[in-house]
Amino acid sequence: MRSLLLLFCIGLSTVANSQIEEIRRITKQLCSPEFHGRGYVNKGDSIAARYIVEEFKKVGAEPFEDSFLQLFELTVNTFPGEMTLNQGEKQFKPGLHFSINPSSKGGKYSLHPTEVNAEQILDLDYMRGLLSQIGRVPNSQVMVFNYIGASKDTVKQIRPIIREIATIMPVVELVDKKFTWSVGREQSFFPYFQIQDSVYQEGVQLEMNVDAKVIENYQSQNIIAYLPSKKMCAKTIMFTAHYDHLGRMGADTYFPGANDNASGTAMLLTMAKHFKDHLSRYNILFVAFAGEEAGLVGSKFYTEHPVLKLKKVKFLVNLDIMGSGEHGITTVNGTLFKKEFELLQEINKEFDLLAKVKIRGPAANSDHYWFTEKGVPAFFIYTMGLNQHYHDIFDTYEELSFSEYDDITKLLIEFVKRL
Ligand SMILES: [Zn+2]
Repeated sequence: MRSLLLLFCIGLSTVANSQIEEIRRITKQLCSPEFHGRGYVNKGDSIAARYIVEEFKKVGAEPFEDSFLQLFELTVNTFPGEMTLNQGEKQFKPGLHFSINPSSKGGKYSLHPTEVNAEQILDLDYMRGLLSQIGRVPNSQVMVFNYIGASKDTVKQIRPIIREIATIMPVVELVDKKFTWSVGREQSFFPYFQIQDSVYQEGVQLEMNVDAKVIENYQSQNIIAYLPSKKMCAKTIMFTAHYDHLGRMGADTYFPGANDNASGTAMLLTMAKHFKDHLSRYNILFVAFAGEEAGLVGSKFYTEHPVLKLKKVKFLVNLDIMGSGEHGITTVNGTLFKKEFELLQEINKEFDLLAKVKIRGPAANSDHYWFTEKGVPAFFIYTMGLNQHYHDIFDTYEELSFSEYDDITKLLIEFVKRL
């Protein structure tokens, strides 16, 4: 009896281990330099897409129509080559010492800085006077805004002023917090940087050399895979996760996007594996979206061109930021779908899974959003934990704990069973 029990336990733990190894293997690959941060430089998104399709095939999931791919186009600003910003002898590192505004123009410039503080920025006469002195030679001058420590209200007043000045000359903002980068959909007329206050030297000429390129109608793709139900069923459950990230800030720096959202993409694939081995009474449609970081572009396109009528979707679960979980998970739209949220909590309690299943109202913060807008019942689930890296170069595979991976998948599998 004892040995049987032992065997049973070993059996169970190998299943769990193999899945956690799978999620680690897939996440690591998605974060590797060959995928270029799954953005638009070197077609990183498309390299990732090909890999994900192969993984879906390995699992045994089918394309819903003839192809796994749903093509769409978007216009993006990219930084494929040179990315240098120096002051004197000091060479700043992209992503660490400085960050370029996602919509910045590139070019090779030597810029003389004029620093202004919060008080000066808000003094419109002072700024007008300053601009009339330096604004006539916009390609050799840069306005450096230092409003570190300003109150929230002051920052709110300062932001539109900086935005306006950025339309007439190069600008720099000094910051004392970690950078948060994103994807630009257009290009401004002048260069625009953020620099860490700790490395910036007042009055010292800034030398920049940046390659910035807008790609019009860049072709990207959602990936759609399908598992039909055990017995014929009219209803479908959707699992979704975006696989794109921010790509490269110059040829030598990329954003691995491990937590956001290689982790969710990998979980999507391991969920597909589970449901292939244990067919559900519902059909299951898996969609890995592209263009999320550019403004939920891929999911918007999907909801405008669904492969399956949206009203046939019984429920959608969007996975984004699944790499930790020490403090539990948050459920966006929990307030909209009370009954389903209570089901999640009930399962969590019954199996003693996560520290917390937190409720949150609707938010336009990931791909579930367009589905919610079109009346598809949906949750967006993200993990809460020790990992605080977000949209920065530190969001690496090595920083992920996947500490609650097994419990989250257990929760979701049981959720589908009881829906
Ligand atoms: Zn994300």
